[in-house]
Amino acid sequence: MRKAEVAENLNRVRERVVTSCAACGRDPGGVTLLAVSKTRPAGDLRAAYAAGQRYFGENYLQEALAKQAELEDLDICWHFIGPLQSNKTRAVAEQFHWLHSVERLKIAQRLSAQRPADMPPLNICLQVNIDDEESKSGLAPAGIPELAAAVAGLPNLKLRGLMAIPAPRDTVEEQRRPFAQLANLLQRLRAQLPDQPLDTLSMGMSGDMEVAIECGATIVRIGTDIFGRRETKID
Ligand SMILES: *Cc1c(COP(=O)(O)O)cnc(C)c1O
Repeated sequence: MRKAEVAENLNRVRERVVTSCAACGRDPGGVTLLAVSKTRPAGDLRAAYAAGQRYFGENYLQEALAKQAELEDLDICWHFIGPLQSNKTRAVAEQFHWLHSVERLKIAQRLSAQRPADMPPLNICLQVNIDDEESKSGLAPAGIPELAAAVAGLPNLKLRGLMAIPAPRDTVEEQRRPFAQLANLLQRLRAQLPDQPLDTLSMGMSGDMEVAIECGATIVRIGTDIFGRRETKID
């Protein structure tokens, strides 16, 4: 993708964040824009970086590691947002700042054990299957309090909040429901674990960013509207 095009798209998305925040009385500084760069070549990330973007989200480990090597000279905050198998935790523990997709205690235990001692704790979001349907990823809301309590006890992880990928809905009203549920679940976790830095709601993508912000998103994960449509449809 052309460098100027990435910068223009990025600016348009930033304006949408500001407009959405204004519409619901939020401070735009409270919403972090995560550029989801899966399937994109390193050059596209470099273009976004040159336009001021610092937070990047990747879904596939091998692909992410290759880009990290190519972009070693940049001061990027790397978020892993895809499914993670337990035999691949070490690279995430060593190479990333955030992981949004924890849904099992075993994964969290491995990450904590593998996090290098000279690095700050790995920031963690628990992925919630908020639609409670066939969706393969995420833990059902009912299981979240127990997982959160266990993760909070791991020394090299920092439990920051919740992530979800709700199914697309036909109307704004319907789209609001899963986001509001996720926000509500985070509220309850805060009451349950008052000592934890539970400040993060990772929700909202290109198609539903505005509603997510209205419902309290603190990280929006935007791919298509920054980098264009992905040729290979992998989610
Ligand atoms: C691909 C992906 C996104 C970005 O989706 P777009 O619709 O392209 O903005 C966000 N979150 C996750 C977990 C993804 O896999």
